[in-house]
Amino acid sequence: MSKHYDAIVIGAGLGGLGAAAKLARAGYSVRVLERHVQVGGYASTFVRGRFEFDVSLHALSGIGTAGHGGDMRDMLADLGILDRLEFRTIDPLYRTVAPGVDVTLPPGWEAATDALCTAFPAERRGIERFLGHLRALQQDVLTMTRKEGLAANPLRVISQYPRVAHAASAPLAPFLHREVQDPAARLVLAQLWGYFGLPPSQVGLLYFGLGLASYLEYGGTYPVGKSQALSNAVAGAAEAAGAEITLGCGARQILLDGGKVAGVVTDDGEPLASDLVISNASPHALCAGLLPPEAVPESFRRRVAAGPISLGSVCVYLGLARTAESLGIRDHEVWVNASTDIESHHRAQLGLGVPEAYLFTCYNVTDPGASPPGTAVAVLVSLADGKPWLALPPDEYRAAKLRVAESMLAGVEQRFPGLRDAIEELAVSTPLTNLRYTGNPDGAIYGTANTPAENPGFRLNYPGPVPGLYLVGAWTRPGGGFEPCLSSGYTAAKLIVGGAA
Ligand SMILES: Cc1cc2nc3c(=O)[nH]c(=O)nc-3n(C[C@H](O)[C@H](O)[C@H](O)COP(=O)(O)OP(=O)(O)OC[C@H]3O[C@@H](n4cnc5c(N)ncnc54)[C@H](O)[C@@H]3O)c2cc1C
Repeated sequence: MSKHYDAIVIGAGLGGLGAAAKLARAGYSVRVLERHVQVGGYASTFVRGRFEFDVSLHALSGIGTAGHGGDMRDMLADLGILDRLEFRTIDPLYRTVAPGVDVTLPPGWEAATDALCTAFPAERRGIERFLGHLRALQQDVLTMTRKEGLAANPLRVISQYPRVAHAASAPLAPFLHREVQDPAARLVLAQLWGYFGLPPSQVGLLYFGLGLASYLEYGGTYPVGKSQALSNAVAGAAEAAGAEITLGCGARQILLDGGKVAGVVTDDGEPLASDLVISNASPHALCAGLLPPEAVPESFRRRVAAGPISLGSVCVYLGLARTAESLGIRDHEVWVNASTDIESHHRAQLGLGVPEAYLFTCYNVTDPGASPPGTAVAVLVSLADGKPWLALPPDEYRAAKLRVAESMLAGVEQRFPGLRDAIEELAVSTPLTNLRYTGNPDGAIYGTANTPAENPGFRLNYPGPVPGLYLVGAWTRPGGGFEPCLSSGYTAAKLIVGGAA
């Protein structure tokens, strides 16, 4: 007889963990199967020498403060783990550098508006209108979600909120370009496009607008213990409520009976029974054999194939044998741009050439304990389309990886002389690394690309293509990122428990 569970969760990324913790705390018997040897998916760390590196996290959204917190804080509190985690505020939020441009953006609407208007006085009116609109959009979405509930029909709801309807259907560029003329001001205002993976001409205004609004309203934070501490805490909440988490053993196939979910077969060949399966694996994996091929409706296959895949990343992880201060590093998040032309930066990311824009993050600025005393831990990140990387033969792959890493290192060395000599540990990841450790197609980091057509209301919904199957994680609503992915699992579980899905 197979072991029976109320729910089986495939994958322990933040989406899977959020679902597991919420269901287990609601009294469900839950089994989590994770292929990797640790929980978290991208929200994890790895160790080289005396350094622990964060695989992904730069800035966590939605934590805020006790009196003024966002959804991330509320979810962690509801899961009973908020007081087990410690968060450090990232201030300033980011610094943008480009030829002739060097602007830092503090958190807070007023402070950010002041900083931008001081840097670009001729653009004051447009900057105020731009940020004012995003703030109003954020309020509309808050009102809408509180009033309409989780299971509301997005089409009906969205039509009652014109600002949201417009943002859900338009890219960022027309609005940004209408309000602000100076390319340098546009660059600084739109700099967080890197967190959403598409340039202003393509990124949905709703995604970008809500993302920037959240960082301005609640600030950005970084957890002490890095993203692994966050993932371990959510996994701990699930286990404390009785969930079993198996590492190093994934789900090979979802079992069906009479067209409904009946369980899964593990990678070890063990059948497990359940009429509820929550998949944190990509929908592409479901179509490629995780579901029996004959059970995948053609409409679902088409829907998945039609969704553009987001970019992956090339990261250069640096363990430095010197302190951040001694190298002149004062900011957590520095965006280094070769020009003010974001569209060109994005085009370069679609090939294998030298990046035109990248991010330099030094964690010790926000958390002095991020690495051993006298050292610093940092990362260089360039977004990168996975397709050309996956097509490379092995010898060319290594050369491409070194070329991209070297170009970012040379750029950052100019800014922080001595950094290269201080490197004690260096590790480079590419979209192939992402694919290997998380199974995401093309090594995508944000699931389906954040175009207007894939806005949070129209993205894949939680109920999957067969009864009893639910989808969570970056490929589903509301989208990629730590807070959205945890919220996908948490919300799907709420719908299951409440019977609303
Ligand atoms: C370099 C980088 C920087 C980033 N920076 C930020 C940031 O600053 N802020 C932010 O909010 N977001 C950031 N992100 C994005 C964020 O990390 C992701 O969008 C999010 O963590 C994805 O979560 P997920 O739930 O989709 O699961 P994933 O992280 O994709 O994990 C999926 C899990 O499922 C497992 N799995 C897959 N198939 C199976 C199977 N068949 N059986 C068992 N297990 C399976 C995988 O092993 C994996 O553990 C960044 C990402 C990267 C890579």
